[in-house]
Amino acid sequence: MQFQKVLAVFAHPDDGEFGFGGTVAKWADEGSEIHYACITDGSAGSNDPGATREGLRPIRKREQLAAAKVLGVQECHFLGFVDGELELTMDLRRAMTRVVRSVRPDVILGPDPSRMWSGSRTYINHRDHRVAGEAVLTVVMPDAPSRPQFPELLDEGLEPFEVPALWLSSEEGDTLVDISSSIDRKLEALGSHESQVGEFGGDWQDWVRKMAKERGAPAGMEYAESFRTFNLREDDEGDD
Ligand SMILES: [Zn+2]
Repeated sequence: MQFQKVLAVFAHPDDGEFGFGGTVAKWADEGSEIHYACITDGSAGSNDPGATREGLRPIRKREQLAAAKVLGVQECHFLGFVDGELELTMDLRRAMTRVVRSVRPDVILGPDPSRMWSGSRTYINHRDHRVAGEAVLTVVMPDAPSRPQFPELLDEGLEPFEVPALWLSSEEGDTLVDISSSIDRKLEALGSHESQVGEFGGDWQDWVRKMAKERGAPAGMEYAESFRTFNLREDDEGDD
């Protein structure tokens, strides 16, 4: 087992499955304890004129729980921020710090905040995804490890915590995870987001497979997910 305790952070219900569902399922198989932190409520997940945020919220939560169950995620933390309006506020930073200091993970998985658009320039990245990525960097430094940040969390018994490793889901990653054994569960988990499958497009399973195939090809893996990784506990203090 590479990491005993894993915290996977993402903006919307279904982002976790797209970004690292195969890795999560594989690590859960190997015995890792996986926690999800879903930052928004997914309430903007439909362009149907009849859909309301109030109506969508419970549906998306239910779907996320079903997807997490498929992958073997132990616990889902729903932070409840409004989908489509995510900003790096002190409220978001406090909520992230609360989760990180209580879970105390060996690694955080999250989105890459530097990703403005897809490599093929066929879509612009959702702003919530970039803000979620920034929130991940911010909790790693300075919020989770710094005692003066959020003294109210000390009152909740949440002592500072230094995150040992960070893996950002990235097209230009330095580390590949072979998900050949778990791609089917990644697809099944994505399929749990029944309200979203229509938005994915009819051929979504094909392009999810194709993407994972492209990631894995250079390393001779059938399917892979790609990460930009940070080992934050190296002895070398660096020159910062
Ligand atoms: Zn999303």
